Amino acid sequence: MAVKASTIALISTAIVATFGIGYLVYFDQKRRTDPDFKKQLKRERKKATKIVKETQEKELVTVEALITKVLEAVTQETFPEAAEDKEAYFMEKVSIGEGLCAQGEDYYDESVEHFYKALKIYPAPLELIMIYQKTLPEKVFRIIVNLMALEQQKRQTEFYEYFPPAETGVKFTELPVEADKPIYGLTANKDFNAGDVIYNEIPLISALYPVLEGKYCNYCTKSLSETKIECTNCDQVLFCSQDCEKTASQQYHQFLCTNNKLTTEPNTASKFLDFSRENNLKYPQMIAQFLSGMVAEEVEKNKIGKAASPYSAWDHIERFKSGPTMEPTAESAKEAAMIKELLASKVPGIDEFLNDEIYLLLKGKLNENSFQLPTAEEEGVETSTEPVRVLDSEKKGLGSAIYKISSYIVQSELENANISVAFKDNTNELIVTATKDIKKGEEIKTHYT
Ligand SMILES: [Zn+2]
Ligand SMILES: [Zn+2]
Repeated sequence: MAVKASTIALISTAIVATFGIGYLVYFDQKRRTDPDFKKQLKRERKKATKIVKETQEKELVTVEALITKVLEAVTQETFPEAAEDKEAYFMEKVSIGEGLCAQGEDYYDESVEHFYKALKIYPAPLELIMIYQKTLPEKVFRIIVNLMALEQQKRQTEFYEYFPPAETGVKFTELPVEADKPIYGLTANKDFNAGDVIYNEIPLISALYPVLEGKYCNYCTKSLSETKIECTNCDQVLFCSQDCEKTASQQYHQFLCTNNKLTTEPNTASKFLDFSRENNLKYPQMIAQFLSGMVAEEVEKNKIGKAASPYSAWDHIERFKSGPTMEPTAESAKEAAMIKELLASKVPGIDEFLNDEIYLLLKGKLNENSFQLPTAEEEGVETSTEPVRVLDSEKKGLGSAIYKISSYIVQSELENANISVAFKDNTNELIVTATKDIKKGEEIKTHYT
């Protein structure tokens, strides 16, 4: 069945995606939190430059050739997909590598490929890298770290060349390292005049406060007046149009529907909804939507033979700025457990996939990058324990949304802002407009709290 195949893809995407990021996150946090780290890096770089200079050209070429060879071998490798095959594969590669290292320095180069392949399928690569650091010969370890960094860099460059699309007139640019600033920001890719619309954007995921469900469209968050479309199987959510109903159902609602028109028995979906309502939470709903969306994406890909984009929703969300590292709590464990229960029958494998680390990673991204959806009416919900970017503090909130492009907009003082962000026709679609003349290459900034 299509859903089964997609789960395997879901898990392997996550494993591939997690690989490397942990390392970068670690690096990034270190350079921010540790004042000595920058100095140390500078020293290390100096030392490295010296070593490189001193190294015979021949040896350098050998290492370069080795790196190219390993990367090629990895590209051509068919990695196992089933969990037990992965484990066997992992053990096999590590023991070959160790066997080679045991034979002496002449075999170090040859061992790299095996250790690296093991790392590629290991679910917690950061932990493995730390084990490698303690156990492998320094030279082997150094080459492995280089390989990781190179591959990560390549993936990153390709992503930022592909997204955002050229017609938006903006691109992501690496920002100078400063405390509290994101690593990537949004810059103009051409000149804009004050008043120009820079781009429009619909959210990657969005959710209403559960208590407002039924008053606004579950998909586009438009206020509902005459036209109200009910879900075929439940009366818990309403939509403004057949289009919104169809898209929501295909992307996530089919996975989250309580089906209470068909059964009055409480089920995992109704319990999850009750839980979200009681605690006035949107983010667990958004995470459930996001995971459902990833499966929907895979199903669609299998149906038409290829994905609409070479990058999944996961690729986008993993690149968003992360907030401070979150510690697991009783609440977060409960939220993750409920989502697992909710999706268990529809997404085989979700149990292993949605561990504490992944759940908190997703929640941290939502905390850091979501925008509050404002309402002109009285019935918004003002207070929430969930952090959110507020564009207009005068207005109450009706929900939250996260955007592929707009998450990168840098926060600024009001007088330095060069764009305004508005919501089109009171929906969750954003319109980003220049408020000043903006030159190509300039950072896109707006004021939010
Ligand atoms: Zn709608
Ligand atoms: Zn429904």
